[in-house]
Amino acid sequence: MLVLDRKPQAAPATPMRAALDGVVAYKAGMTLAEAGRRTGLSDFAKLASNENLLGASPKVADAVMAAVAEPQIYPDPYCETLRAAIGQRLGVSSSRIVVSPGSEALIDYVFRAVLAPGDKILLSSPTFPAYDIFARCAEAEIVDVPRLANFDLDVPAVAAAAAQGPKLLILCTPNNPTGNALSREAVETVLAATPKTTLVFVDEAYREYFEAYDMLAVLDAWGGPWIAARTFSKAYGLAGMRVGYGVASSEELIAYLDRLRPPFNVTAVSQAAALAAWEDREHLASTVALTLSERARVEAALDQMGVEHTRSEANFVFLRTPAGPEAVAMRLLHEGLIVRPTPVKGGWVRITIGRPADNDRLIAGLPAALVP
Ligand SMILES: *Cc1c(COP(=O)(O)O)cnc(C)c1O
Repeated sequence: MLVLDRKPQAAPATPMRAALDGVVAYKAGMTLAEAGRRTGLSDFAKLASNENLLGASPKVADAVMAAVAEPQIYPDPYCETLRAAIGQRLGVSSSRIVVSPGSEALIDYVFRAVLAPGDKILLSSPTFPAYDIFARCAEAEIVDVPRLANFDLDVPAVAAAAAQGPKLLILCTPNNPTGNALSREAVETVLAATPKTTLVFVDEAYREYFEAYDMLAVLDAWGGPWIAARTFSKAYGLAGMRVGYGVASSEELIAYLDRLRPPFNVTAVSQAAALAAWEDREHLASTVALTLSERARVEAALDQMGVEHTRSEANFVFLRTPAGPEAVAMRLLHEGLIVRPTPVKGGWVRITIGRPADNDRLIAGLPAALVP
């Protein structure tokens, strides 16, 4: 039978969960390829995703080459060697550690393991968008206690909301995208108010840049359930390898995550790369030290230009742009600088601290880009 003139039918209802209709997919920083397409340039300083442009330990390359020689073999589903190495240095049993393909995957696992529809999750915007995304996917109720004008956490307000016993409490320190870090006293104040039925999730993606106190000890002293998330993507320079890890208050919490995570989620190559990076402490120390001194240099330049910026304890600066974040990002893009405009009210841009030559280009390009 010919059906040429059949009337168009209404699109069938999508089988996807209605909860996902309210979720906006994560928007990553611009890739080098897209920056090239947009401008016709080829030499960029990629300062939009907080990668360590000083690079990973030189020992990573050999480890990767060795691991890639046996692509037919599944990776270790428990990342035993890497977990043992991490546990030993942190003084934590490896049974309290989980490795994931980036800490964003760990956020996904934890949220899926903890949040049932209608459960409350407490966070403080502006912060890392993944919490909002995964909370919505879990159909949780987001309780937002906004940060203060300088983007520090509103500690009394967060403590009061935490006392209500949300299922999950998020502390991101140093916070992305603002750079603000929590003092030990601030963490202790919030924890003291938090009932031990709440899981405290501390995102320490930038902890290597801010080691003022031992977060794990503070959490242990509190005594409730917690997970601290860390990553090899930032200071360790392995963003392309996708490795993060979590330390939990107990082995039991990790066992729950093992139930719902994909078993072979971290490739053998990534495990080998992370182990090599973890063992090269000198490289980590020297790149962190250089990043911190370069951050001070960029901040001094911002101060000289009269640019408002936060007190960042991470590998980026967060600055206010009267010209508007999108316009500033576009102008800088045409100077070969990829930066991250943000939707934060007031017009704020996040810019990663790069290699010294990248930062020189930034300091040279900013005055013209910031003209309102
Ligand atoms: C970058 C970042 C992550 C995710 O990093 P992964 O590459 O997935 O390990 C998690 N949390 C914060 C706050 C970040 O800035």
